[in-house]
Amino acid sequence: MTKARTTDVSTPVRFTGCLLGVALGDCLGAYWEGYPGSELAEAYYEGRFDPVNLRMSPWTDDTAMTTATAQSIIDCRGVDGPDLATKYLRWFESGGRGIGRATYHSMKRLQSGTAWDQVGQQGEYAAGNGVAMRIAPIGLLHTADLDGLEADCKTCGIITHRNDEALAAGVATAYAVAWAATDKLDIETLAVQLAAQLPPTRTADSILQAGQLAESKTPPLQAFPQLGLGGSAYQTMGTVIYCLMYWPRDPVKALVSAVVNGGDADTRAAIVGAICGANWGEEVWPDRWLAELPGAEGIRHLATQLYEVTTNYTPGTG
Ligand SMILES: [Mg+2]
Repeated sequence: MTKARTTDVSTPVRFTGCLLGVALGDCLGAYWEGYPGSELAEAYYEGRFDPVNLRMSPWTDDTAMTTATAQSIIDCRGVDGPDLATKYLRWFESGGRGIGRATYHSMKRLQSGTAWDQVGQQGEYAAGNGVAMRIAPIGLLHTADLDGLEADCKTCGIITHRNDEALAAGVATAYAVAWAATDKLDIETLAVQLAAQLPPTRTADSILQAGQLAESKTPPLQAFPQLGLGGSAYQTMGTVIYCLMYWPRDPVKALVSAVVNGGDADTRAAIVGAICGANWGEEVWPDRWLAELPGAEGIRHLATQLYEVTTNYTPGTG
């Protein structure tokens, strides 16, 4: 069994590890976003490229929208659609670095006065990874209780993506983070367990395909192109799950792999970072990365506040 038991990691350290993991994945991956990938990946797997030499970009949408989600949960003591929309809009109006197409059009509609639950993009162009990239704090909130996780993901997701694929990717990410932060992540069976939580979608199929590729030890340079390197929800979730399951005991290698294979590297790496950080805690991330990460102290503070809210959280059932 490759069960990633990490019982010596305290829950607050998992919260900081998760949010720092999002930012590390984003900042390391953003430097390589859109890069074809295979050359750098080949050099890395052959030991000709030391990941200590990875460069960091400033935050993009992944970190900015994740911290906005966390701040909203802290302020509202739970998931509140109008407040989330207000915080996303504030980020958009401050420049919205790295914004995706669906989020851009949703924010434009919000700006022009359309209601928060009616602005989200619909149709095939809304099947992106923009929900999954920002949803880790909802997974952390539901470490207290998984009840309501899916409803909260939907409340958050529809602000920008009224699309089953995008929402399924968000739910998958939130479950993985919640399981990891409560030490219930079984990486060996992760693909099957996650797919079981999702409606029939291309995203669920891609997660299962990723699990099969990892189990059959299909090497990354073959697996990544099969799963797809773009920013579609199914492509991102497939490559995320492959990274986790192919390197079940090596979260740094999983994160670096998410970065060096190119394509939508920052979002892929941000989600891998969220799940690995929640599972192994902040200590898993190399000191040099943390020292270089922009805004690391603020992220730690946010994670601590989110932990405090979570410990006093009772889902709104009844
Ligand atoms: Mg980004």
